[in-house]
Amino acid sequence: MSRIAYVNGRYVPHLDAAVHIEDRGYQFADGVYEVIAVHAGALVDEDGHLDRLARSLKALHMAWPMARGPLRVIMRQVIRRNRIDSGYLYMQVTRGVARRNHPFPSGVRSALVMTARHAPPFDAAAAGRGVDVITVPDLRWARRDIKSTALLPNVLARQQAVEAGAYEAWMVDGDGLVTEGTASNAWIVTADGTLVTRHVDTAILEGITRRAVADLAAAQGLRMVERPFTVTEAKAAAEAFVTGTTSLVKPVVRIDGTDVGDGRPGPLTTRLLAWYGEHMAGQGSAV
Ligand code: PMP
Repeated sequence: MSRIAYVNGRYVPHLDAAVHIEDRGYQFADGVYEVIAVHAGALVDEDGHLDRLARSLKALHMAWPMARGPLRVIMRQVIRRNRIDSGYLYMQVTRGVARRNHPFPSGVRSALVMTARHAPPFDAAAAGRGVDVITVPDLRWARRDIKSTALLPNVLARQQAVEAGAYEAWMVDGDGLVTEGTASNAWIVTADGTLVTRHVDTAILEGITRRAVADLAAAQGLRMVERPFTVTEAKAAAEAFVTGTTSLVKPVVRIDGTDVGDGRPGPLTTRLLAWYGEHMAGQGSAV
């Protein structure tokens, strides 16, 4: 089946979908985005993603392309027209099309693009396979809480991971503390079973999956501390994992070639993944 994209008011064949060369997203990375999982035909944590989109837009003084109601209608249309039961919805808002000039243009509408793609349905065994991460310096700007399309440092770090045969790169700040992955949040489990993940401020993106996992952990009575950790602490941790829309809860079994724990997915990580699977299954009605 041919894919359909939504581009500024029109549903078009994916192959023909295009934006103007003077879209500020293209020229300045002057845009924000969200990736939302579709599980059993339903959007996962839709409100959390739209709330974060609102925060990103506000931080950049960028106007919503339309009200939330019509936006939700288009999200569902894109999923329906692409017959997505399991996959991802991508949406991007940019400051629009204007003659190239740095200051914000006036009288220009924000541009909106949406695409959707299939992915295999949730499979706990496949999702729970352990992965390697490498660590790299965090070269990004100081407002990583904004889900900006300016992803060049993330792209470079992820490419480095791929070339090293790793799944993800953990970025490390000037103090030797792990910030997050290129597209995921970083977690460790200490020897006494406490979950540790970096606190939310402008140094990291507040992951929607991170929030969901923190809530599941709290509901299960697990101990959790939000604080930064070093690479050394992570390598010596009992367990490590990443969370993200595309990673779900992914066990990390090696960091820069050093085994974490016994080099196999940790028991707590595996339980969190199972609970996260239930969380996805418990989402609202199919779209
Ligand atoms: N950090 C970064 C830099 C990301 O790009 C992502 C993926 N959106 C995450 C964390 C995880 O966020 P989420 O759980 O909302 O996908």
